[in-house]
Amino acid sequence: KVINDTLGHYVGDELLRQVGERLRRNVRGADIVARLGGDEFVILFNDIKSVKEVNGLADKLLNQLRATLNIEGRPCEISASIGITMYPEDHGAPDELLAHADQAMYISKQKGRDCYSFFNLEMQSQSEKRLLIKEQLRLAINHREFVMNYQPIIDLQSGRVVKCEALVRWQNGLGDWIPPGKFIPIAEEFGYMSSIGEQILELVCCDIKNIRSQGFEDITFSVNRSVQEFPRVENDVSEWLQIIERYNIPFTAIVFEITESLLAPENKIYLGALETLKNAGIKIAIDDFGTGYSSLSYLQRFPVDIVKIDQSFVSRLLDAPKHNMLVATIIAMAKTLDMKVVAEGIETKQQYRILSELGCDFGQGYYMARPMSSELLLEFLRGDRVNNESLSVSRRINQAPDPLS
Ligand code: C2E
Ligand code: MG
Ligand code: MG
Repeated sequence: KVINDTLGHYVGDELLRQVGERLRRNVRGADIVARLGGDEFVILFNDIKSVKEVNGLADKLLNQLRATLNIEGRPCEISASIGITMYPEDHGAPDELLAHADQAMYISKQKGRDCYSFFNLEMQSQSEKRLLIKEQLRLAINHREFVMNYQPIIDLQSGRVVKCEALVRWQNGLGDWIPPGKFIPIAEEFGYMSSIGEQILELVCCDIKNIRSQGFEDITFSVNRSVQEFPRVENDVSEWLQIIERYNIPFTAIVFEITESLLAPENKIYLGALETLKNAGIKIAIDDFGTGYSSLSYLQRFPVDIVKIDQSFVSRLLDAPKHNMLVATIIAMAKTLDMKVVAEGIETKQQYRILSELGCDFGQGYYMARPMSSELLLEFLRGDRVNNESLSVSRRINQAPDPLS
């Protein structure tokens, strides 16, 4: 996909031909190599004597595919995700065997690609659950079943609410709340994220307009945007800008949260979209900072405004300074690069205090407030304005719990 999008279909086709050739060279005469479609190949190995033999074959194929390809003088790096099913052990008709292999391949992709997995029955039930969620999501989009919750983000020095993060909530037709961490990857896989993302932006803008009209024009709102939500065609984010304009919300009141992977070199097609957003006045935050792409050079290629320190770092904070070097370094780096820092997932008073001592600008977490409906958020904001005590001292409203927590 990336190669088609960046280097064109001709290069993509040539790549497929060369991959097919490599696969063919690595099987025996009686084996069959076929291309199922897109970037999916199937190999039928006959006369396998042991699982060990299959492991060896899979390792060999992965190795062969890792070697750089040369296409029209251009080096291309690829990797494969392999799913394996055995016959007669994983019995089934040919199309069922293919479905098994497909499910196992999905697991390899989830494990981070460039590896192989064997089919098992648990995978089958997982895959059935996934397909069920996919079907429910299709209906959810048509019926507009998504709702938004908001988690206050606090200025750690003053203790006041200055920002909020919008977080999507979804209750399926059976009445179960499905967490975004579970349904978003499925929506991404099946290409639903751009429609869901548009509905989310619409809902958030509607709430922001209402909250601003009640005298909270200084609060900024973060909206999460996954890679798959970004329009692939011509980088056109004008639809997003139009939604925000339609609600008369200044672009400067919006922050888009993206992840580090969006700024990795293979995603450079999105840089144009990010620049358009930034030029309009929207701020860009890096979510879950420190957990993804390991090179920081992207921060020079694309100047982000905010980094959000992932909860995994916050939860490890301790009073002894040597334990906090990583967070202290992220904060120092952000200051040098003129970025603001938000710490995610603050759950204890101790974490709050350490972060504020380390000079972290903002924080969010259950210690201060859980995500809540827009109505409760308004109440929370009102309480924040009239109360002289800062949030770090007391929690002031008895909020209804987030359905997910
Ligand atoms: P995220 O953007 O990093 O959001 C922070 C997550 O941490 C939220 O989970 C929030 O409820 C949770 N959280 C906040 N404070 C604490 C705390 O003190 N302790 C713990 N344990 N958790 C805390 P949630 O709402 O389940 O969302 C999970 C992820 O799903 C988000 O991570 C984001 O990546 C994605 N997501 C959520 N809403 C949207 C959305 O509207 N669009 C997109 N594209 N992704 C979304
Ligand atoms: Mg986020
Ligand atoms: Mg995060």
